[in-house]
Amino acid sequence: MNFSEIGLHPAILKALTDSGYSQPTAVQQQAIPAALAGRDLMVSSQTGSGKTAAFMLPALHLFATQKRPATARANAPAHRSEPSRGHDRLRFQPAQPLMLVLTPTRELALQVTAATEKYGRQLHQVRAVAILGGMPYPKQMELLGRNPDILVATPGRLIDHMSSGKIDFSQLQILVLDEADRMLDMGFIEDIERIVAATPSARQTLLFSATLDGTIGDMAQRMTRSALRIQVDATSARHDHIEQRMHFVDDLAHKNRLLDHLLRDASIDQALVFTATKRDADTLSDRLNIAGLNAAALHGDMHQGARNRTLTAMRRGQLRILVATDVAARGIDVPTITHVFNYDLPKAAEDYVHRIGRTGRAGRSGLAISLVHHAEHFNVRKIERFTKQMIPVEVVVGHEPTRRAPSASPRPTGKPAWKGSEKRSFGPPAGQADSRFSKPAARRRDGAAARPSFHDTAKPGSSARGGQRSYGDR
Ligand code: AMP
Repeated sequence: MNFSEIGLHPAILKALTDSGYSQPTAVQQQAIPAALAGRDLMVSSQTGSGKTAAFMLPALHLFATQKRPATARANAPAHRSEPSRGHDRLRFQPAQPLMLVLTPTRELALQVTAATEKYGRQLHQVRAVAILGGMPYPKQMELLGRNPDILVATPGRLIDHMSSGKIDFSQLQILVLDEADRMLDMGFIEDIERIVAATPSARQTLLFSATLDGTIGDMAQRMTRSALRIQVDATSARHDHIEQRMHFVDDLAHKNRLLDHLLRDASIDQALVFTATKRDADTLSDRLNIAGLNAAALHGDMHQGARNRTLTAMRRGQLRILVATDVAARGIDVPTITHVFNYDLPKAAEDYVHRIGRTGRAGRSGLAISLVHHAEHFNVRKIERFTKQMIPVEVVVGHEPTRRAPSASPRPTGKPAWKGSEKRSFGPPAGQADSRFSKPAARRRDGAAARPSFHDTAKPGSSARGGQRSYGDR
């Protein structure tokens, strides 16, 4: 099936050809025809699957082929640019979008807006704007004053504008909840309920989420009507085009030395390094810069302007290494990122999949490398179970860990070292139960698996610096 067989508007087909898209992805093949037919959707798909186009193309097609309701057009912005006489509040006409896309993060919202502009380039009458936390209010008022057809927003800031009467959802036709699972994780459930309650019940609802289990599945059921459930082939979670590796490290000093070594690999075009905390992202990016590597941090404590500048520098290739936290890196789509490093492992296996999906974008291949303390092998096993893929263990000559990998198979003998490093499989010998993981991990009160500190696990004689840092230091 190709895009013209789906019956999309010629102007959209032209934009897709210009973007180099020849075939719809698996999620697009299933979602676009159903959305065009007016169905609600509950889609479980991974990042990088082409989900943005899956919801945006049918919406653009609809707006290209329908006349905007007269009531909405009556809010044309002309009179809003009149000089203020102190009656702005009285004269301000609320924006009446036809489509709302809710996203968990500002970066994803900007990404969706950029994709919309790309797909809708030939449709001059369709306007999309992003309304985000961290953006100055006057700028947002100006954007809303354009009475956009498509509003892409993060929940918190949208609620602010709804509360002050700047947005009227009476004309809304399509509601998209993008990365809905992540919005719930981030505690947006009440905001989402409130926003959804303000939209017409006759709307079309398209919900995208990495998973449709548990709370998110219940919410999806409540917010959709007779939704078509689309489960994109689980192989997309495997990221088969992304090579995965892991290195065991003894302590923080070892981890830093190894990362420095790996980052100097000439095959890296651009790299994304994940840390567990915002503070670690800053500290690590400072350290890498001092070591002569071109790095910058990206995290939620930075002002939006600084985040945008950093991302723009990354997109333009002026920055080689981005050190980021999970939330800030959500939705980053920079096709030239060749390597992803997990400086700290993520808490959840799903996050691992999202992280490594930042490389190998748009049909390219990528390499994901995790730096793992011996005490974290349980987390690695969880990831391997989730992705149903083993992550091969590698050792860099000159940077070997002093401890043997847990239950690692005996070293293969007589095998040549691979580019100065050696691959070993991580797992029990065939036919043996994996007793390493039979005990449940201790749980912290907040529900996260307790992680031992370097101090608890470091060998006598390991560096004092490594000994002082705790994995659980958030
Ligand atoms: P998404 O999952 O929406 O973040 O998209 C992931 C990447 O795939 C983006 O870089 C898109 O531009 C790209 N993409 C989406 N659909 C297609 C397609 N049909 N053909 C080629 N690339 C695509």
